[in-house]
Amino acid sequence: AYQGPSKEELLARRKAVLNPGIFLLYKDPFYPVQGYMQYLWDETGKRYLDAFGGICTVSVGHCHPEVTAAITAQAGMIQHAPTCYLHPAVVEFAESLVSTFPDPLKRVYFVNSGSEANDLAILMARLFTDHHEVISLRNCYHGGNAVGMSLTGHHTWKYPVPPMPGFQHAKAPHPIWGPIRYDTPGAGRDYAAEIQQLIQFGTSGKIAAFIAEPMQGVGGTVPYPSDYLEHAYAHVRAAGGVCIADEVQTGFGRTGTHFWGFENYGVTPDIVVMAKSIGNGFPLAAVVTTDEIAAKMSERIHFNTFGGDPLAMVAGKATLDVMLRDDTMGHCKLIGDRLITGLKSLQSRFPIIADVRGSGLILGVEFVIDRQPATAFTADFFERCKDHGLIVGKGGLFGSVIRIKPPMCLTEADADFLLGVFAEVLAELS
Ligand code: PMP
Repeated sequence: AYQGPSKEELLARRKAVLNPGIFLLYKDPFYPVQGYMQYLWDETGKRYLDAFGGICTVSVGHCHPEVTAAITAQAGMIQHAPTCYLHPAVVEFAESLVSTFPDPLKRVYFVNSGSEANDLAILMARLFTDHHEVISLRNCYHGGNAVGMSLTGHHTWKYPVPPMPGFQHAKAPHPIWGPIRYDTPGAGRDYAAEIQQLIQFGTSGKIAAFIAEPMQGVGGTVPYPSDYLEHAYAHVRAAGGVCIADEVQTGFGRTGTHFWGFENYGVTPDIVVMAKSIGNGFPLAAVVTTDEIAAKMSERIHFNTFGGDPLAMVAGKATLDVMLRDDTMGHCKLIGDRLITGLKSLQSRFPIIADVRGSGLILGVEFVIDRQPATAFTADFFERCKDHGLIVGKGGLFGSVIRIKPPMCLTEADADFLLGVFAEVLAELS
């Protein structure tokens, strides 16, 4: 049995020393003390299916034996070596990582978090273009540091301090709340016209960058019309800007059809940002870009203490090795399709399900009552899933979306368990 502090004691001690603003997802806080692959165990020994993976972070599975073995072996050899010394781990992982990218995306910078990666991406874009202004999308999330918060398009995550100058948000596509239905002919082109108009009316006409998640994550699993990014990128490039894809949630095959989320839209960005899944839970992030952009960066020293650290590199390499060897992307497609079929069948029985969206193992279910986001219902649904042994995520500005982003090793039986819990909870709450 678990020997650590009780939930009550831990809560009290945490309140005394930690940031008083950190939030707990559940009314009765979740206290996981052990994880293995797609499962978590709490302090009482109760098992849960983890369909959120620590916010889309655990990719090949909690404590995946190969990743654990790689970290453990490295920890006994040399734990820290900055990139100003030589070590093979950073080179080996970089080679393997760039092999997953189309040309000309072949240069890697390693950093420690998604926010830091976005900060670097914006720096690269500004240096390379010699322009300053940056466009992101409403309803996006890109991080909690100064640049990340300025990029983010949700007031929930933005403190009331002056945002950094030069950041603006374009109206974004949304399948329910957006002004254009996705099945309207020309929807992608018409949504992208917002970006052109913002460039024309809200900027100097010369922009440094446009950044978008290929599917908005925190915003509630929001994909775009299939030709949206193609049109958006064209407007941005015409204004001298570069295009950044924030793959922090969508990357590493999670969408099931392509290794990188942007590939689902037939576009190639100039800069790609990744974090979370890259380390299977180890703090690690990266920016991948072109030789041309990297050349600009070499005019000064870009260095960070832990970027490229051997421990992080072996964690990343072992994770990627598992993904490529086991075709986790194909598995995401298989299980994702099963979930989508099951969720759509629930939708036909429970009209409160307004939308089932996403692909592979990045899915969203939006609840709507009387054409309004069903915020309270979603909160109850979320809590009850936990009572039934299922951990899911919640998202969207109004908290009306249930997010399913499990470790990629979810089995068919796990998918059926999730669908069974959803059916039970929907019946309980109806
Ligand atoms: N971009 C996206 C799309 C994210 O979802 C997140 C984290 N939720 C970030 C950036 C920021 O990453 P981090 O929390 O590692 O700074």
